[in-house]
Amino acid sequence: MSQPVFRFAPSPNGFLHLGNAYSALLNDRMARAAEGRLLLRIEDTDETRSRAEFMEAIFEDLAWLGVSWEEPARVQSEHFVDYEANLARLWDMGAIYPCFCSRKKAQAHALPSRDPDGQPHYGGTCRALPRAEAEQRIARGDAHGWRIDMAHVRDPATIVWGDAMIAKRLVGSSYHIAVVTDDALQGVTHVVRGKDIEPATPLHRLLQRLLGLPSPVYFHHDLIRDAEGHKLSKSLASTSLRQLRAEGATADDLRRRLGFD
Ligand code: GLU
Repeated sequence: MSQPVFRFAPSPNGFLHLGNAYSALLNDRMARAAEGRLLLRIEDTDETRSRAEFMEAIFEDLAWLGVSWEEPARVQSEHFVDYEANLARLWDMGAIYPCFCSRKKAQAHALPSRDPDGQPHYGGTCRALPRAEAEQRIARGDAHGWRIDMAHVRDPATIVWGDAMIAKRLVGSSYHIAVVTDDALQGVTHVVRGKDIEPATPLHRLLQRLLGLPSPVYFHHDLIRDAEGHKLSKSLASTSLRQLRAEGATADDLRRRLGFD
């Protein structure tokens, strides 16, 4: 059997917090136990929120925690051609369509139901655009994202999703297509991530099926919560590893607190 491949894939939109540390340490432990490899991927396709200083801090904080990954880390913003190639394949098979609606316009025409990530179900305006017209608009440089055509792909496992956006406006956030493309390109066999992302997994499996990519094993761990029971968030700077370190915590303290060692 080939070696298992795990990955930790943070977005550099803030300093790593205890929840991220838990995820990284769990991947590290599982990779070691399986005599597998651990990769690090920086998910910085959302150019409005990603910052180089947060990426540097991720490397530093993980090394401080004692997590070791295979160098070099893959930085998603350097690989948009890979995501675009898969988007082109999906469009050719009619599984996705470009959407030119602004957020405001999409919201104005939204359905009352919502995707598991909280986005309202898209009303479908751009689904009806003839391909020639859509191609013309793309060639002209009109900003667009890509939506999955759920009526076309007919996938029972994603029944709760509407025409979800799998890649946003030009090179903006492209989370779903990027994560699926990279897991396959990097040969990832085990995806270990928080329960907050679990609702997206059927969508990821659908994209894998459409693109003929292998589907990794998924495991979604419980989230670490703050004293009030709220989910931690990088963008809220809650309990960042840096802050805990500045207050005197050692890496061993945090590992123990999270149940490792
Ligand atoms: N980049 C995502 C995050 O920071 C994680 C993606 C994943 O593990 O699939 O929440």
